[in-house]
Amino acid sequence: MKNYIQKDEWNIIEEGFDPALNKISESLFSIGNGRFGQRANFEESYTGDTLQGNYVAGIYYPDKTRVGWWKNGYPEYFAKILNSANWIALLIEIEGEQFDLNNCKISNFKRILHMKEGYLERSFIAELKNGRQVKVNAVRFCSISDTEIGAIQYSITPLNFSGTITITSLIDGDVKNKDSNYDEKFWDEVYQEVKDEQAYLTLRTKKTGFDVCTGISTSFFCKREKLPIKSEAISRKKIVGNRIQQEVTEQVEYTIYKYAAIVSSENYERSELINACKEALKRATEKGFENLLEDQNQAWKKKWEESDILIEGDTAAQQGIRFNIFQLNQTYTGEDARLNIGPKGFTGEKYGGSTYWDTEAYCVPFYLSTAKQEVSKNLLLYRYRHLPKAIENAEKLGFVNGAALYPMVTINGEECHNEWEITFEEIHRNGAIAYAIFNYVRYTGDHDYLIDYGLEVLIAIARFWSQRVNWSEEKQQFVILGVTGPNEYENNVNNNWYTNLMATWCLSYTMEVLTYVAEHSPTAYQNLLQKTNFNRETETSRWNKIIDKMYFPSHDKLGIFLQQDGYLDKEQILVKDLDKKHYPIHQNWSWDRILRSCFIKQADVLQGLYFFEDNYDIETLRKNFDFYEARTIHESSLSPCVHSILAAKLGNEERAYEFYLRTSRLDLDDYNNDTQDGLHITSMAGTWMSVVEGFAGMRVRNNKLHFNPMLPAKWTSYSFTIGFRGSKLNLSIKKSLIKISNHSEKDLIIVIRDQEHRIAGKTDIEVSSFKVKTDEG
Ligand code: BGC
Repeated sequence: MKNYIQKDEWNIIEEGFDPALNKISESLFSIGNGRFGQRANFEESYTGDTLQGNYVAGIYYPDKTRVGWWKNGYPEYFAKILNSANWIALLIEIEGEQFDLNNCKISNFKRILHMKEGYLERSFIAELKNGRQVKVNAVRFCSISDTEIGAIQYSITPLNFSGTITITSLIDGDVKNKDSNYDEKFWDEVYQEVKDEQAYLTLRTKKTGFDVCTGISTSFFCKREKLPIKSEAISRKKIVGNRIQQEVTEQVEYTIYKYAAIVSSENYERSELINACKEALKRATEKGFENLLEDQNQAWKKKWEESDILIEGDTAAQQGIRFNIFQLNQTYTGEDARLNIGPKGFTGEKYGGSTYWDTEAYCVPFYLSTAKQEVSKNLLLYRYRHLPKAIENAEKLGFVNGAALYPMVTINGEECHNEWEITFEEIHRNGAIAYAIFNYVRYTGDHDYLIDYGLEVLIAIARFWSQRVNWSEEKQQFVILGVTGPNEYENNVNNNWYTNLMATWCLSYTMEVLTYVAEHSPTAYQNLLQKTNFNRETETSRWNKIIDKMYFPSHDKLGIFLQQDGYLDKEQILVKDLDKKHYPIHQNWSWDRILRSCFIKQADVLQGLYFFEDNYDIETLRKNFDFYEARTIHESSLSPCVHSILAAKLGNEERAYEFYLRTSRLDLDDYNNDTQDGLHITSMAGTWMSVVEGFAGMRVRNNKLHFNPMLPAKWTSYSFTIGFRGSKLNLSIKKSLIKISNHSEKDLIIVIRDQEHRIAGKTDIEVSSFKVKTDEG
């Protein structure tokens, strides 16, 4: 755990430069706009420890896996979103010495991520080996109002000399993924052009053939006057740019403006790409830095109006939630249904930028409440479009009759993970995909989705479960063997309680939806039966048998569900009794030791209880929570948020708060010692859930929003805005008062602690006599 980020409500601030923390900061200060993004690398050269990273959404490469591809059923490749051309490079030579912070004395170093306005700033004073001192201020952003544009304003002041500086502004396309399996480079050059102060480079991905064209325009200013530039063209393989030499005067500030345009063949015909890039670059240069930044500020203002959570009285908690919301909004905007949310977004390479169950299990609720309905619908449609591939995935494993197994890791619908036991065996993902449909319909009331898309996916998923279970003569029950549950620290287990639960739930839900569609849209129903060759009678009669006779491991004496067969055979040690020097165990222990231990990586049984809490009484929730939390080591970022929500449900404010801080500051404080690899973007949606579903207790029941708020002791108040079925409401929760403002025209009915309230359009209500109340009374 680290503690070097300064607490501030709106900004992420690092003061002083510590090279040992640089890769963590590169992750934390990442910027993006949903279409492309990058780590907070320096513009100048840096020979210290760094992970250079620029990523363009949807541009991937199928890197051949290192293990298992020779076995039947194993995926052949691990897809990765590619590290793409670096457009920020401004290499600076000062009086013959390359300016490199690794070789300088640095003072007044400050990095700020201005989350309210959406830009990154870095300032410092550096003394080079040759004794020359410069002051630098660099501002940079990826525009969210024009998502093809990035911009840099780089100001440099010679403090103790007049002399010559040389600036080489590059597009460096000679980049490599750090996680490349065979150390290969994935890009070929297709086209380059350098002209005056501009340069263009089109690269094509090997195998997948995506073209990405990057353009830059670099200009040099002094006292707001553009200096006449004699620029020299740089043109090497996969590297283009312009070199400028400039005489500079002591104590005078010089400013370089660098604009970039990034377009890809995902959005343009190849033949149009270069023109589209030039067009975008023209828009950027014509608008100029200040106007672009002003647009950026306005666009972010709008985003914050929709999704901010205001916490008063606790700066660390406030900073945490805003950081999470900011990063989510930088990663996925929902405008392009082909895109999804990689666990690291644009901030690193781990997880290959692919889509995991994280989207359905964690991210969908955030977008349901804070964005237009189409955004979460797009996330669902992404899987709908992948249905044929999911059926193929299942066929490869021997399943028949249109059964679908969605991939655990994917970009194009094909399974593409690196590890069989950990990843592939997590067939529970099929359940999360069905659950997201249920969650979406429950929240939006968009039942047409079931008719148009949902049922088709559900039938295919249900068919998978129906074939994946087997009858145990011994137990006289159905069992599911050889799986990995959400807890990845156990592999190839039998009867993971959560997986068995999701399987039976999927079967019941599919039957419920079949009835709904048959009643509400008989024609669509008949068409679908034909399309899927579905025999309702025979197929559902087996499903009913499975539901009736599914085996669920449990322990009556302890009053808990058992994570899987044999869990209690493990040596039972509590996390509190494990010396902290072992944390994180995945970095300190052998895999063998992890598998033998009882330590749980993330919510597993508790994930099921979180999804279906209404099916269990509070005592059952409590017993399972107490038992499993004590053994959970939370080494998946997805873990603390679920625990926070359940602790709040159980009325345990202290634990709920502790988990909230852990989830919201997971990266800011580097809890799991892995922020340097990139941020945990998908779990950030879980952080949002732990405020809205956790502390505020929001649930959707019977088409209405319910709240059961509690106020963490440290907070004076908190408030947030959500959209629900065309209405917009704001909840503000204080110690003695809950205020709900209905921002829409139409009336809204909400339920606060089981009491219904009607709020007329454009009015507020206040509910007083606030006291912390649990679901028990
Ligand atoms: C978690 C998985 C998750 C993956 C990507 C792993 O560490 O255990 O549940 O899907 O990260 O976020």
